[in-house]
Amino acid sequence: MITIAIANQKGGVGKTTTAINLATALAATGLRVLLVDLDPQGNASTGLGVSRDQRDWTSYELLIGEASLHHCTRETGVPGLSIVPATVDLSGAEIELVNRDRRSNALRDQVENATGFDMCLIDCPPSLGLLTVNALVAAASVLVPLQCEFFALEGLSQLLQTVERVRTRFNGDLSILGVALTMYDRRNRLTDQVSDDVRSVLGPIVFDTVIPRNVRLSEAPSHGLPALIYDHRCAGSAAYIDLARELIDRLPTEEIAA
Ligand code: ATP
Ligand code: MG
Repeated sequence: MITIAIANQKGGVGKTTTAINLATALAATGLRVLLVDLDPQGNASTGLGVSRDQRDWTSYELLIGEASLHHCTRETGVPGLSIVPATVDLSGAEIELVNRDRRSNALRDQVENATGFDMCLIDCPPSLGLLTVNALVAAASVLVPLQCEFFALEGLSQLLQTVERVRTRFNGDLSILGVALTMYDRRNRLTDQVSDDVRSVLGPIVFDTVIPRNVRLSEAPSHGLPALIYDHRCAGSAAYIDLARELIDRLPTEEIAA
């Protein structure tokens, strides 16, 4: 199983939208995908139609070691896509873990021997706290959604520092899979400038695919559906299919084939 953390401590940059729709696009290619909702907001769970009363076993129990991955995983309406949902309880996990020796490895200890999945995506909360560190320790690589706005790059160095720290202390194999530009608005000239700037600063780690600002992407979660199912022909869905393709191309081929 290849595990990818979707992280950026900035709020509202498209982490959850990317997690849901990328997971759906990957599942559509026939891969067995697990999405771990690691945000106490539980937006990925809601966006995939997992109601509150279907969240008895969540990423909270998983992290504190009260239940196994198998126990906390449930199928979604999307064929091939399962989820470990989250509730606000998860915010308590940071406090409960804080005095444990393996607090940063809690998620990794639970998912590293998972069977039955080809890919695992982790939707991180908008912070660089213990939850995001757990995602980075469990992951092989990080995907960073970056919103096409004036301050896009602000805060990125902090995220990269955290990645570096996790790499030296816990997870020497951790790599940056790529940066995905989100909410691109072609009618706004500033976004073009931002995208050019980001590409000139970060170079080829930026995915060619750009996720457009698209109202269907923002409507879909209120129906409990990925945009790819809510409206598979909208520009947002098409972009996430392209991003999935690009992502697969960046993965070590032998791992995908396995
Ligand atoms: P948080 O940091 O709070 O977890 P996030 O980084 O996960 O936020 P999202 O929840 O994916 O960000 O997106 C923030 C808001 O922007 C949501 O209302 C979402 O529906 C909307 N949104 C995300 N991507 C797009 C897009 N490409 N076009 C239009 N709306 C979008
Ligand atoms: Mg989110």
